[in-house]
Amino acid sequence: MIPAAFEYAAPKTVDEALALMQKLGANAKVLAGGQSLLPMMKLRLANPAHVIDIGRIPNLRYIKEDGRHTLAIGTTTTHWEIESSDLLKKKCPLLAETAAQIGDVQVRNVGTIGGALAHADPAADYPAAILALEAEIIARGPKGTRTVKAGEFFKGIFTTALGADELLVEVRVPMLGTGTGGAYLKMGHPASGFAIVGCAAVVTVQGGKCASARVAFTGVSDRAFRDAAVEKAITGKALDAQSVAAAAEQAAGGVAPLSDYYASADYRSHLAKVFAKRALMKAVERAK
Ligand SMILES: Cc1cc2nc3c(=O)[nH]c(=O)nc-3n(C[C@H](O)[C@H](O)[C@H](O)COP(=O)(O)OP(=O)(O)OC[C@H]3O[C@@H](n4cnc5c(N)ncnc54)[C@H](O)[C@@H]3O)c2cc1C
Repeated sequence: MIPAAFEYAAPKTVDEALALMQKLGANAKVLAGGQSLLPMMKLRLANPAHVIDIGRIPNLRYIKEDGRHTLAIGTTTTHWEIESSDLLKKKCPLLAETAAQIGDVQVRNVGTIGGALAHADPAADYPAAILALEAEIIARGPKGTRTVKAGEFFKGIFTTALGADELLVEVRVPMLGTGTGGAYLKMGHPASGFAIVGCAAVVTVQGGKCASARVAFTGVSDRAFRDAAVEKAITGKALDAQSVAAAAEQAAGGVAPLSDYYASADYRSHLAKVFAKRALMKAVERAK
């Protein structure tokens, strides 16, 4: 299947891309890796008259240290570049681990972090990691640049806090220091790899106890979310198998899980508990 005809533009700068977005409005779609947009166009679920390819803008594809505690990732950085980055593996391995679990190597070679976050598929992998890391998303629009906290970014199914005239330009994640460990684990759909349930955990251990925990899910409901009940149940506790299992039992308590041909709501609820336990245990192991 091929998409309907469209006009193609390849701006050379972010300002040029923003000007085109302003001019063309709802008739245009931004193209990054095309791994979600092009299938939608082929299926006629999206029919833009114009496609604005941001993949050819230099300076949007990078992974770098920004100060002593933060890593900055340009929006068109591919999943493969994130998965294989030595800097991320060393300073924020959770993100590299998450990228490595996306789809297959062909998808990871062209799909981008900005595209995945802007698309906000409820079963996408990055959102759980981005929430557990308390990352920041940098958006640029006609009114300038603004920072959106990960916790305020995902608004619902395929819906984010990005305005129609804004580009996601950068993602900022913290470096995980000594005593802090992170993990992302999922049960992926056997065909696409999308998460049936995915769980990211970031745990800081002090004196054998949990000083802080951030636990986030994807795949469970219409959007990725932080699970405050699990986080509260484990914080301050000794990090043994028993207390982790007890905290994991709280998982996904306050959400209405999705139900589809592959996994019922009850099964997703069950998987959320299983993956919360596994992700927390792995994060604790890595924090030591
Ligand atoms: C076979 C297959 C398997 C997959 N499996 C997984 C999986 O297991 N886990 C997973 O998480 N994902 C999976 N994906 C999705 C993949 O990760 C995509 O790369 C991602 O969802 C979209 O990124 P992209 O760069 O391809 O964006 P595109 O497809 O180019 O764009 C997606 C949407 O985001 C918008 N957009 C893109 N960049 C920006 C930006 N910078 N600012 C504002 N809006 C922007 C576009 O306008 C479009 O609406 C799979 C995809 C395929 C085809």
